[in-house]
Amino acid sequence: KWCDVEDIISVVLTQVREFSPHRNIQVELPDDPVFIYGDEVLLEQVLVNIVSNAIKYSPDETQIVIIVASDRSPNQLTIMVADQGIGIPEAERIRIFDKFYRSESTQHVTGTGLGLAICKGIVEVHGGTIVAEPNPGGGTRMRIDIPMEAQGSRFPYSEQGEVEE
Ligand code: ATP
Ligand code: MG
Repeated sequence: KWCDVEDIISVVLTQVREFSPHRNIQVELPDDPVFIYGDEVLLEQVLVNIVSNAIKYSPDETQIVIIVASDRSPNQLTIMVADQGIGIPEAERIRIFDKFYRSESTQHVTGTGLGLAICKGIVEVHGGTIVAEPNPGGGTRMRIDIPMEAQGSRFPYSEQGEVEE
């Protein structure tokens, strides 16, 4: 089904607020509604995982920003979650998506190391990619690029790049 990204983010914020009511989380959305074809519960889970990591791996008083941009490339949506935390060493930026992999630098915080492996699987079945980048302002920026349609499109995305009803 077509999922309104604004609705997804609002559910994510509600869930995150339950365990982190006071954290400063900003959201930047495009002016017009944007839609991803897929499973909204899974997409919500991806963002809850990533925002939870941002909360876990950055100091309480720092800001987290969720940026949704539809103008980077045609029919691709970019969703970024930026934090001002400890960052991820370049040598580990790929391995953090492996199941059970946890960085040496974060062993003091509990976790199983499954969150990002699950995120990657969910993003990929939706035809997207997920990478960890250095945040230009310091910290980490997780970036998802995923097929989308702006409001008004009638056909769902298919993996072959064809349109189908
Ligand atoms: P869980 O399965 O409970 O999510 P986890 O958070 O350790 O456990 P992942 O979410 O898969 O596992 O993340 C893997 C590792 O990547 C983390 O242990 C941490 O070292 C690193 N990491 C993930 N997000 C960030 C971030 N925003 N800043 C710094 N390090 C991060
Ligand atoms: Mg995690």
